[in-house]
Parts: sequence; C-alpha cells; structure tokens
Amino acid sequence: MTDTVKYVLDETHIPKHWYNIMADLPAPPPPVLHPGTKQPVGPDDLAPLFPMALIAQEVSTEREIEIPEPVREIYKQWRPSPLFRARRLEKALQTPAKIYYKYEGVSPAGSHKPNTAVAQAFYNKEAGIKKITTETGAGQWGSSLAFAGALFGIEIKVWMVRVSYNQKPYRRALMETYGATCIPSPSSETQSGKAVLAQNKDHPGSLGIAISEAVEVAATHDDTKYALGSVLNHVLTHQTVVGQEALLQLEMAGDYPDVLVGCTGGGSNFAGLAFPFIGAQLRGGKKVRVVAVEPAACPSLTRGKYAYDFGDTGHLTPLVKMHTLGSTFTPPGFHAGGLRYHGMAPLVSHCKELGLLEAVAYHQKECFAAGVQFARTEGILPAPEANHAVKGAIDEALRCKKEGKSQVILFNLCGHGHFDMQAYMDYFAGKLVDQNYDEAELAMALAGLPAAA
Ligand SMILES: *Cc1c(COP(=O)(O)O)cnc(C)c1O
Repeated sequence: MTDTVKYVLDETHIPKHWYNIMADLPAPPPPVLHPGTKQPVGPDDLAPLFPMALIAQEVSTEREIEIPEPVREIYKQWRPSPLFRARRLEKALQTPAKIYYKYEGVSPAGSHKPNTAVAQAFYNKEAGIKKITTETGAGQWGSSLAFAGALFGIEIKVWMVRVSYNQKPYRRALMETYGATCIPSPSSETQSGKAVLAQNKDHPGSLGIAISEAVEVAATHDDTKYALGSVLNHVLTHQTVVGQEALLQLEMAGDYPDVLVGCTGGGSNFAGLAFPFIGAQLRGGKKVRVVAVEPAACPSLTRGKYAYDFGDTGHLTPLVKMHTLGSTFTPPGFHAGGLRYHGMAPLVSHCKELGLLEAVAYHQKECFAAGVQFARTEGILPAPEANHAVKGAIDEALRCKKEGKSQVILFNLCGHGHFDMQAYMDYFAGKLVDQNYDEAELAMALAGLPAAA
C-alpha cells in the first residue's frame, strides 16, 4: 500500500480541556519579573493588557483547563484536524521510518493560530472588551485574530512587520476582508514606532518592535486589550488541542511516536503538538525525542542565551526568562516571517533546560527544497515556516534509513503556504539567499540584556 492514509476523528473527540504542562514539570519555570522592581509580577501588573481569565490561565498550575463550550462550537468548523501518514513521502525517501503529520492548515486562516485566537477573542468578549491590538509577522496571526474578532464583534488592529507587509499583500487583504485594520510597523502612530523610525526611517521592522507598538496602544486605552499569538503560557496551552488529538489518532493507527518535530518561531505550534506527549512521558509514559526546528537566520534556541529579557524591542513588557537573541536583535528579512522573533516561549526554553527537548537550525533554501519535495509527494504546499518542520522530519527519516530503524516520526504541518507563493516563485527563480544573522549585531544585542535579579 502506497497511498497516503488519513486518520479522522469526529467532533465528539474535540478535546474538552486544554492541557497545562505546568502541572507535570519537575520544577516550575522561573517567575516573570517586573522590569523596574525585579520582583515577580502579579495579576494586577498584567491587567491593563489581558482579561483576567487569560491572566489566570497564564499562572495556572491545573493540569486541565476547561475549553468553554462556545469555543468548542467554533473549533468544530475545522477540528479535529486530520492526521496523515505520509506514505508517498516515505517511499520517495526510501526510509523504513513511518512519517505522520498533523495538518493545521485546515483552519479558516490556514494555520494553527485560530486555536488560540478564538479562545482569546472569547475571553476578551466576556470581559466587555471592544478592541484588541496585536502584531503580526508573516500575517498568519493577524489574519487569525481578525477572523476571531469578526466572530465575536471585536475591533482588531494589527501592526504588521514592514518587510512582510511589503512581501505579503494578500495576508493584509485577508485581514481587511475579516474587517480588521492592518498597518506596517514601525509606524508613526506610537512612541515606540517613532523612536525606531527616528534612527532608521527605512527600518524593515521586527516582531519585537511591532509588539511594542501594539502593547503601547493597549496599555494607554481602557477599552482596548492586547493579544499575543505565541510565546505566552496561555497561548501554548490553547494549542495543546493539536497534540491531544494526535495522541488519539495515533492510537487509531496503532502507533506511538519515537520522534516529534515542529518548527519554532515563538514556540506555540511546536508546544501544542509536543506538550501532551512530554506530559505523558513525565507521568511515566513512553519517552519521546522532541526536536524543535528553527531558522539559522534567527536561532534563539541554538544560539541564544537563556536569560531574562524583554518580550519587545521598546521594553514595555515584563522580563521573562527565555532563550533570547536580545530584544534589539533584528533578524535578516528571510521568508519565514513567522519565525523572526528574538526570543522563545519561556515554557519551551525551560523544557530545553530540563533536557526534555533538543533543537536544530536550518537555512531557508534547504527548507524550501524539503517543502517542494513534500508538495510533490503529499500534495499539500506548506507555509515557509512549516517547511522547517518538514525538513526536520525528512532528516529524521533519512537518519532512520541510515541506521536501518523503522521509527515513528510525527511532525506538525502547522499551516499551508497559499499566501506565500511569492516566496516559492523566488525560490524557483534562484533568488533566495541563505542569510546569516550579523554576529556583531547579536553580540551587541546580547550585551544589552537587562540586568536581572
Ligand atoms: C506563526 C506561525 C509559526 C510560528 O509561530 P509558533 O508560535 O512558533 O508556532 C509557524 N508556522 C506558521 C504556519 C505560523 O503561522
């Protein structure tokens, strides 16, 4: 049998709870600190930015957090997402390994991001919030929150990293179709944006800068809150519907993964797939190797420092301990815009320190080559970010071939690339270059890390 196999669950299998890995970790992650006092932040410090229900989830140590029924109702449109066995890819690679992938591109916005966007919009609506500000890199998060805002009648304003704003006009068009406003960052609408433009009026932007702009506006308006599409504990927790469903689907297939692979920008799709499996392992279940794949041009887990840092460039956020390249680091403008963040989710960073996961970095051309091989065998065209996971999974399958091992590999195909065709056209035209980050800039950004308690 060589055909691709699809494992489908019905809507009764949509998880009833999000899984919170905090309950199973052998040691808690270091606390989030107030940048002024260097003392742990309390719920009140975060209240200007987030509704209380999400702050409670951010600090929760409960293993299961109930998914509200209205959120599950919306999830029904695309969840449970399918799990596929990539038999044609296995055959092309002539590997004895079994390759499975969980496909999150079936959501309306085309990625895993609506899993948390819908939840966040729900809790903001419950709290009477009228407007949410946010940032977006490639536009996946902005369009996901725009979709969720449309469902709950909340106004969404998105600061989009300028280099992506110019590269990906169709993502912006999608946000506007959903009724959101999208402007390029750095912008002259905020103090943070103006400060960056004063130094360099052609600044390409970064997620760190766009976050500052969105946070600044939320912090200074009572009816406005802020939403983040990755990094934070509650966001990672919302994404665990992915891994929980995958556990059930692999049970249907009669398999259990030896290796999990995911791409990492801020860490949410990776954690969403991996945390339920890591949790099972921590509770005495089977050990899995967990591989985070990041871009060589923005390698926070493999080249960053595990240190307290700001989440944004303008230094408006609290200090979190994470693998970071420094909050002033501006990665080169490569095509996986969703992976251009200077830091890594504190929970993913903490798991790396605990030895629960490993990380590798790849350049963009080898990732596009993997994505093209995937499209030509499996038919689905991955987002440039997802190509990193495809590359990671292919390399694991080739390792299995070399070692003669029939291991089970599961990766997260976190989104499709239908809005990223310019990147594929550039790849085919030989226009993509493998950019390295600037060593001197990294050293400078790391030297500028805040002194922490
Ligand atoms: C946003 C995004 C990413 C990066 O964010 P994570 O929080 O690391 O998941 C990766 N892939 C896709 C398709 C995205 O939209």
